[in-house]
Amino acid sequence: MLITAGHVIRFLERVAQIIHTHRDELTLLDANIGDADHGTNLDRGFAAVVSKLPTVADKDVGTILKTTGMTLISTVGGASGPLYGTAFIRAAGVLAGLETVNPEQLVAALEAALEGIQTRGKAQRGEKTMIDAIAPGIDVLQAAQGTDEPFLAVAERALAAVEAGMQATIPMLATKGRASYLGERSIGFQDPGATSSFYIAQALFTMLQEAAAQADAS
Ligand code: ADP
Ligand code: MG
Repeated sequence: MLITAGHVIRFLERVAQIIHTHRDELTLLDANIGDADHGTNLDRGFAAVVSKLPTVADKDVGTILKTTGMTLISTVGGASGPLYGTAFIRAAGVLAGLETVNPEQLVAALEAALEGIQTRGKAQRGEKTMIDAIAPGIDVLQAAQGTDEPFLAVAERALAAVEAGMQATIPMLATKGRASYLGERSIGFQDPGATSSFYIAQALFTMLQEAAAQADAS
């Protein structure tokens, strides 16, 4: 399976769509334990990304992702903009100059993205953030490396792990970000950033389905 720049462009358009569809839900989740802006923040950011895509559509995957990250940092107010922005820029560093990306390279880029979020936000697993959704998905991808399981099947299990990780934030006590100001009152609510990470992971899985279908057809 090979992921092309065109697949990545459609992935980013799909992220913008799915975030737009879930904008109010993400904002309501943030109203529970934050300042009720997560959905509007990301909707603004990914709409800005989509508006930049025509300028990079003929560029390599690294350039497309770097532009995405820089656009998120400059247009998303709030913690999530610099965090997602850093994730895309770190992934771009791993995929710099590539016209096509194979599954191993994708996994390396996702690992770098998670590391970027952890470095930037100084959070670890279990602190009720987006990391609690993303990290379990990366665990699945890493554990399957070097096995014969088809990558799409691995990715489907990774998506399920992200969803479970998102749901596992509900009973967690927030110790990072705005939700941590609530202390014990942060318990019992699903983290908005973990939820947006699940939607982004869904769009990523759809991109892989598309790339796999084309690989089968060729
Ligand atoms: P803000 O909290 O500044 O209003 P958003 O509402 O856009 O920003 O994003 C909130 C989300 O950001 C949280 O739900 C959480 O998942 C994530 N987040 C906040 N701080 C951190 C951090 N230090 N590390 C990782 N993720 C974080
Ligand atoms: Mg907020």
